[in-house]
Amino acid sequence: MRVAVISDIHGNLPALEAVLADLDGERVDAIWCLGDIVGYGPAPNECCALVRARADICLCGNHDLGVVGALELATFTGEAAAAARWTQGVLAPEHRDWLGSLKPRANADRSELFHASPRDPVWDYVLSDQVAAEALRLTSAPLVLVGHSHVALCVAQADEGSVGGGLAPGGTETPLAAPPRRLLNPGSVGQPRDGDPHAAWLLVDFDGDRGTFRRVPYDVEATQAAIRAAGLPEVLARRLAHGL
Ligand code: ZN
Repeated sequence: MRVAVISDIHGNLPALEAVLADLDGERVDAIWCLGDIVGYGPAPNECCALVRARADICLCGNHDLGVVGALELATFTGEAAAAARWTQGVLAPEHRDWLGSLKPRANADRSELFHASPRDPVWDYVLSDQVAAEALRLTSAPLVLVGHSHVALCVAQADEGSVGGGLAPGGTETPLAAPPRRLLNPGSVGQPRDGDPHAAWLLVDFDGDRGTFRRVPYDVEATQAAIRAAGLPEVLARRLAHGL
């Protein structure tokens, strides 16, 4: 079984299309999406349509929940709230209903999936050894998959319970068989924040016992132009060039 794990697409259609083209070259059996299909980016309808058509499992993220009205936008940063309100105005009812039907966690083959973390599947950021250890303590599957931070991560839990690992730049590979159990974040398709502007995804090859962190170039300037044409906050365009 070969699975493509994608997350945090954020309405960035050129990035999503580049990732889908890349994973289509890898003969994957399934696509799992960890949420935040919309928010920040200028193409929420197109991204919802593509993910609905392609993903076998799809979680919702905090931005999806904010856009459908299930989370207060007062808890969002200024530009996130502005983008969520813009998205509410353009999102097709069928996509709003679909986003509203999604859950922020799921179980799958040898894996537990969360948008954010096991202790708070919507908001918690797994960015430290301490939080990663807690996430592994609260789960039991060999593989724990999280998104939300937009930072690709590869963390392994040693037998004594301590965790090791960290950032997972493009090309990073890891075995998957437990022990040790692992927590992986594929990084973000549509708004990477780990200093690499290329779109991120994760190839999980259970039979080959290998996870591979992938990065794909896409037309950043096309997304930036669409953000500006939509009147979304300028900072949302600028950050894409730097992956921050
Ligand atoms: Zn996100």
